[in-house]
Amino acid sequence: MSRATVCLTYDFDAVSVWIHTFGASNAPTQLSRGIYGAWVGAPRLLDLHDKRGVPATWFVPGHTIESFPNRVGEVHDRGYDVQCHGWRHVNPSTFDSKEAEQSEYERAISNIENVTGRKPTGFRSPAWEFSKHTLEIIEELGFEWDSSQMGNDFVPYHLRKDWKAPDSDPFELGDSTDIVEVPISWKRADFPALMFVWEQSILWGFADEQSVFDLWQAQFDWMYENVDDGIFTLAMHPQVIGQPPRTRRLEELIGHMRTKPDVEFADLSTVVGEIQDGDREVFEVMGGN
Ligand SMILES: [Zn+2]
Repeated sequence: MSRATVCLTYDFDAVSVWIHTFGASNAPTQLSRGIYGAWVGAPRLLDLHDKRGVPATWFVPGHTIESFPNRVGEVHDRGYDVQCHGWRHVNPSTFDSKEAEQSEYERAISNIENVTGRKPTGFRSPAWEFSKHTLEIIEELGFEWDSSQMGNDFVPYHLRKDWKAPDSDPFELGDSTDIVEVPISWKRADFPALMFVWEQSILWGFADEQSVFDLWQAQFDWMYENVDDGIFTLAMHPQVIGQPPRTRRLEELIGHMRTKPDVEFADLSTVVGEIQDGDREVFEVMGGN
């Protein structure tokens, strides 16, 4: 076990985020930003990872697989972990029924099987949020882990079902499941800080770019000093982080991490496998809550 593990992850949304999340299906310039991710960002990142020998997990919507099959095939063929990011890039709470949500994920699973030859084991919600059915669905579909939630920062844990959040009574955590959560954070992500979205002023996207990378480095350094066997998960998008000079800054961050003794880079499937084999601890709640 290394002192620290780094998991670089990409949500390969391509045009799906513009069509399904931002409603820009009739806006070719908006759509072109997603095309850029497939045409320019993704290969640039694959080259960086190949050059530095760094594994990665790519969460790919079924819509991206059916729209850009050759590029997604290249991600797999070059040795990277391909996992599920829904089919349409929608918030799961917008599905009319459990059946509607489940059928989209079944289509997405089939897409990934066509690319990789096997069922995906990992899930990341397109909205980084679940509906009331999502956990049950991913359990029933045979997923083993998720990377959408934020109940810890650097230590994985098990997702809980049958939780309750009433207005006037205490929150109930619910019961632990076998689904391993490898948590993410809006502060270890590129989209909110670096992607300008005209329609949604909450997504600012004109940050001092170096400050974003400085924050990621400071978070990694803190984890390295303070968390045993911590997992530093970074969630990025080819259409965002693939823009210059961000790939160079990402490479500098990788280089910084490598200056520390006993740091390994792994994809999320590998990390979860270590948990399932009993080689890595998960966060356990004292007293059950
Ligand atoms: Zn996404």
